[in-house]
Amino acid sequence: MINKDHPRYQSLLYREKIVEAHKNGILADSGMIAHGRGETFDYLIGEKTTDNSKNTIEVAACYFLTRKRPVLSVNGNTTALVSEDIAELSKILDIPVEINLYYRTPERIKNIEAVYQKLGVKEILGTDDDDFIDTPDLNGPRSPVSIEGINKADLIFIPLEDGDRAEKLAALKKDIVNVDLNPLSRTAITSTVTIVDNIVRAMPLLIEYVNKYSECDKDILLEKIKNYDNRKNLDNAIHDIIKRFE
Ligand code: ATP
Ligand code: MG
Repeated sequence: MINKDHPRYQSLLYREKIVEAHKNGILADSGMIAHGRGETFDYLIGEKTTDNSKNTIEVAACYFLTRKRPVLSVNGNTTALVSEDIAELSKILDIPVEINLYYRTPERIKNIEAVYQKLGVKEILGTDDDDFIDTPDLNGPRSPVSIEGINKADLIFIPLEDGDRAEKLAALKKDIVNVDLNPLSRTAITSTVTIVDNIVRAMPLLIEYVNKYSECDKDILLEKIKNYDNRKNLDNAIHDIIKRFE
């Protein structure tokens, strides 16, 4: 039982979700450590979505609504925290969810697949029955991607992703949208759009913006994309942290 008066109440709740996902065979040991790294940066940014990040989430929504074949790439951490939001976004946009794991085991894949099946996701890729092709220059079990999924995608959503994979996917000249609380990570730097926010806050807002702009004129969305600069977004995120302690 967590006391509601605790100043880190929300944060402790999410820690419990992470521990539960670990027990349920969804999250690898190192996923717990990655969560801790995220918590550190969330502490620094003040555990809230900044105005800068709200703008970035809006731009991310514009990308999803103007690209032909987006894919949502999910791992254990994303599944542990926001599987319902992922399922919702997949449904609204009618796009696949592709499982990709750093510590891939047949059992973990099955457990994650079951989560999305239960949530009614229509197209779940990256399972052991899929047809795969390797990501160029990337070794290990994360390298294979679904031929019909990430391989053919023009936009890949890679929340909470490691920098090696992000760099190799970005090199394929696909648009990359990610969520990463660390504005200095290689994932943050190499992506097209980096949402510097906790995924638990970013996903509901992303869904809200996708719904808001779904009927909007494409030219208006493309204009928002044109005016966006990811480097500036990351500079703003770092300055927002510094300003808190001035
Ligand atoms: P990189 O490899 O990109 O240079 P890294 O090695 O720190 O950085 P990983 O630990 O492999 O990256 O990936 C996890 C990333 O996800 C971390 O940057 C961490 O800050 C971020 N992260 C963890 N939990 C969350 C969360 N709840 N919301 C958003 N980001 C998170
Ligand atoms: Mg890394």
